[in-house]
Amino acid sequence: MQHPARHLEGPVPEQETSLVELHRSCADLLASRGQWQQAYEHLRHALTLATAEHGPRVPERVPEQVRLEVARLRREHAEAREQSFRDALTASYNRRYLDQKLLEEADGGLAVALVDLDWFKSVNDTYGHLVGDRVLQQVVELLQVALPDGGFCARYGGEEFVLVLPGVDPDTAVAVAEAARTRIEQFAWSTVVAGLRVTVSIGVAHQAATGLAPPEQQLRHADGLLYTAKQSGRNAVAYRVGGEVRLCGAPVRRPR
Ligand code: GH3
Ligand code: MG
Ligand code: MG
Repeated sequence: MQHPARHLEGPVPEQETSLVELHRSCADLLASRGQWQQAYEHLRHALTLATAEHGPRVPERVPEQVRLEVARLRREHAEAREQSFRDALTASYNRRYLDQKLLEEADGGLAVALVDLDWFKSVNDTYGHLVGDRVLQQVVELLQVALPDGGFCARYGGEEFVLVLPGVDPDTAVAVAEAARTRIEQFAWSTVVAGLRVTVSIGVAHQAATGLAPPEQQLRHADGLLYTAKQSGRNAVAYRVGGEVRLCGAPVRRPR
């Protein structure tokens, strides 16, 4: 929209300053309601009116204030967006982020490792729900150690988490999962509460860049492998090599 006063010389007409103010008021109102995107649009209008159309003739104070508010709103918007992708208890990414990222990553090779705590109901039953919550937080910290570039951990639901590992080969994916399993098994859980032991079972599904299945199918595949890991005695990682399902972890070490 071309502003009617664009080519006028002299001080900025009061009407234009008030238009800037109007946009700023709208932005404040919208921001206070958490409608960041709309608030940001209003501040951009204010900034455009105050700078592009009138340049140096606008009193310094106005554009500077507007600029600061734009920066503040942009920051708050980014923070709010980040929060909307995080799980409140563990601060890992949430299911919404997971679903979105899996679709975005769908055109590169990708591994997903579905992680489920073993006998977690009995952790809650024995030590209480708060200890259970603390365990979930610690497990996430341990899962996030040394992830390859672009990898992340998301809470899939309850006591299940997904490690998403873009661009890794199948061996690396299994190695990452097995390292995570070992780290959790070996953590000093007695520092949380005496007598506590925590292990996880993991199903790893790898998919090459070509012939990609939809993300839900890959997660179903990982879920099937997780079931195999549970059936094997838990505290294990299950994966597939060609048509064959393989296991590593505690059940494999156990003497037969
Ligand atoms: P399995 O080895 O077969 O996975 O056994 P499990 O006991 O881990 O599995 P089950 O599905 O029976 O129990 C899962 C438990 O996880 C039950 C539920 O109360 C607990 N849980 C889910 N979300 C949370 C949470 O946010 N905090 C706590 N403390 N517990 C949770
Ligand atoms: Mg479960
Ligand atoms: Mg479980």
